Amino acid sequence: MDFKSIKARDKEYIANSYNRQDVWFKKGRGARLYDDQNREYIDFASGIGVSSLGYGDKQYLKAVLKQLGKLCHSSNLFYTAPDGRLAAQLCQLSGMKKVFFSNSGAEANECAIKAARKYSFDKYGEGRSTVLTLRNSFHGRTVTTLAATGQDKFHNYFFPFTEGFRYVDANDVGGTVAAMDDTVCAVMLEPVQGEGGVLPLSGDYVRAVAKEAAKRDILLIMDEVQTGIGRTEKFFGFEHFEVKPDIVSLAKGLGGGLPIGATLLGEKVERVFGYGDQGSTFGGNPVVCAGACEVVRRVSQPAFLDEVAKKGALIRSFVAEIHSPYVKEVRGRGLMLGLALEGIEAAELSKKLLAAGLVTLTAGGNTLRLLPPLIISESEIERGVKILGKTLKGMEK
Ligand SMILES: *Cc1c(COP(=O)(O)O)cnc(C)c1O
Repeated sequence: MDFKSIKARDKEYIANSYNRQDVWFKKGRGARLYDDQNREYIDFASGIGVSSLGYGDKQYLKAVLKQLGKLCHSSNLFYTAPDGRLAAQLCQLSGMKKVFFSNSGAEANECAIKAARKYSFDKYGEGRSTVLTLRNSFHGRTVTTLAATGQDKFHNYFFPFTEGFRYVDANDVGGTVAAMDDTVCAVMLEPVQGEGGVLPLSGDYVRAVAKEAAKRDILLIMDEVQTGIGRTEKFFGFEHFEVKPDIVSLAKGLGGGLPIGATLLGEKVERVFGYGDQGSTFGGNPVVCAGACEVVRRVSQPAFLDEVAKKGALIRSFVAEIHSPYVKEVRGRGLMLGLALEGIEAAELSKKLLAAGLVTLTAGGNTLRLLPPLIISESEIERGVKILGKTLKGMEK
C-alpha cells in the first residue's frame, strides 16, 4: 500500500483526534527511523519517551519473542512468571513494596489515586479524598486523570469531571502547604513536568512538600510516567530529591515500546487493595512484562545511567554552541530536555526539523521537547543537533 492510500484510509476510519505529521515510519534501528522512501531520521522523540532501548534491540527482541512463543496471555486469574519478576525488580530498585500492573500512564495514575483515596478512607472515613496536583501538570486522558491535570484547556466538553482535585503552583511551598487541609489525602507531582513544558521541580520544593505531607499523613504520589526508567539520568526521577514517595506511577519508558502501566505502592499502601478492589484484564501481560524486565535490567545498571547523564550533557553543550537567538533556555534533566523558544513557534520548528530528518516533540510554553532513546549514540546526537542548528539558522530573518 502506498502512503497516499494509507492516509486516505486513516482519514476515513481512524477517529479524528490525531493531527499526524506527514510521515510514515516503517522501520527503526538504534535511534534512527526510516520512512516509506527509506529516508533516514535521527530520533529525538522515542515515540514520546517510550522506546528507551531504541529500535531492533536484540536482547529486548529475544526476551519478548521467547515469551510470545510460549504464552501470550492468560489473565490475572492465573499465575505467570514475568510480572512477578518485573515487580520484584521495580520494588528492589525503588524501595517500594508492591506493584499493580496496568496498560498505560493514565491507568497507572488512576490506580495511584484509588490507592491514596482508599488508604485515607480506611483510616479516616469519608471527606478526605482531595488530591493536590500542580498547575501545568499532565496526568492522562481519562475523565479522572484529566481532572487531575492542572491545565484549563483539558477541562472542556467531557463534563462532569471527577471531583476532588485542587491545583497549586509548582515550586510554591507556601501555597502547596496552605492547601493541605483536612480534606486532602495526597499530593501528586511529576519530578519534571513533561507535557507542561519540561519544567523541573526544585529539590527544596519537593523536600518541603514531602516533609509537610508526611506530617499530615498526606501521601506523596510521584507521576513518573515520563520521568521514570532512566529518562532523567537516575532510574527514578524522585531520586534527584532524596525523598521517599508513597506511590509511584510508571508507564512510557518501561515497556520498551509495548504498552504497560505500573503503580508502585510503598509501605503505607502496600495492603490497601483487597481481592477485587482493583483489576485489569491485560495488566501484567507476560509478553509485555518479559520485555520490560529486559528494559529494567539494562537501564538500571549504573554504567548505563552514567551514559544517559553524559549524553544529556553532550546535547546541552552542542545546543549551547548553536547560539540561536530563538533558544531562550535549555531545561530538563538527563535525556529529558526542553528548549524554551522565543520568536518562532515550537510546532513550526518541529515540523521543519522532521522534514530535515530529525524527529522531535513539543511541549507547553512554546517548548521544543527532546526525549531521544536512551541508547542513542554520540554520533547520532551530533548529527541530530547539527540538523537542529542548521534548521534554526535557516529560520533567522
Ligand atoms: C504521558 C503521560 C501520562 C499519560 O500516559 P498515557 O500512557 O498516555 O495514558 C501521564 N502522566 C505523565 C507525566 C505523562 O507524561
